[in-house]
Formats: sequence, C-alpha cells, structure tokens
Amino acid sequence: MAGKDHIIIESGDAVQPFAYAVGMHGSKFFHELRNKKFYGIKCPKCKKVYIPPRGVCGECFVEMNDWVEVGPKGVIGTFTILRFAFIDPETGSQKPVPYGYGFIKLDGADTLFQHYINVEDENKVKVGARVSPVFSSERKGSIRDVEYFKVID
Ligand SMILES: [Zn+2]
Repeated sequence: MAGKDHIIIESGDAVQPFAYAVGMHGSKFFHELRNKKFYGIKCPKCKKVYIPPRGVCGECFVEMNDWVEVGPKGVIGTFTILRFAFIDPETGSQKPVPYGYGFIKLDGADTLFQHYINVEDENKVKVGARVSPVFSSERKGSIRDVEYFKVID
C-alpha cells in the first residue's frame, strides 16, 4: 500500500559556507580581541559603555565614536549550565557537556558580554563571581579568540 510506505528524505551534506562583513565597529572589536584586548564604545551623551560596540546609543540615539578599553576581567551577571548534549553548529560534532554560558559585565563596561564560562569547579560559578578570560593560543580575530571565562576568586 503506497500510503503506508516509509518515506525517507535525505538532506545530504548540509554545508552553509558564508561570509559577511562585521562592519566598522566589529572590525575594531575583533582586531583588538586578537591582541587580547576588549574594546567597548562610550556614548558621548549618557556615558554608557557598550560591549560589543555598536554605532548608536540605544537610549540616546546618538552616534558613538569614543573607544574605551574594558576588562579583561569582570563579573558574572547571569549564567546557565547546559547539561544536554546537542550537535554544535560551529563544529558539526556533539557539544561536550556540561558547559557554562553567561552574561559577563567586564570592568568598565555597562552592558553584558555573552560567552562561555568554565564550570570545572561548578560551585564557584555564581552571579557576581569575578572572572577572567582564557584566550586561545592562536587568535584569528573571532569571538572564539576567547575560549571561555573562568572564575578567579
Ligand atoms: Zn547614550
């Protein structure tokens, strides 16, 4: 009976090669990240420091061009610990679990920066804990130039 036959659909190799320009602000940010530095941008009106940097203050709607170095240390603003394995779209392999992901307020910044958090000593991973970035040995100007943040106190 044709209506009860199993239908199998294969997508084949799913490759999505793409490249895009990160823009003026993203270029400066990633260039400095390669040098193990975090650069945010300050609003000339309200003085709020954004990281990652952006072109216009979301509160004042004024253009921002005042670069300021922030971090590299900071505090955990919020976080989660992921315990369920899934296929990591970055690698195509199963993501090792558990791992931490959080929002980090780098010293001198007013916004939160998202990244991985090392959870080897899970009891130390708390809101307000001081963290420091661990940079990859070979940096390419990407967000993965920071492998993760680790609790330092
Ligand atoms: Zn502003």
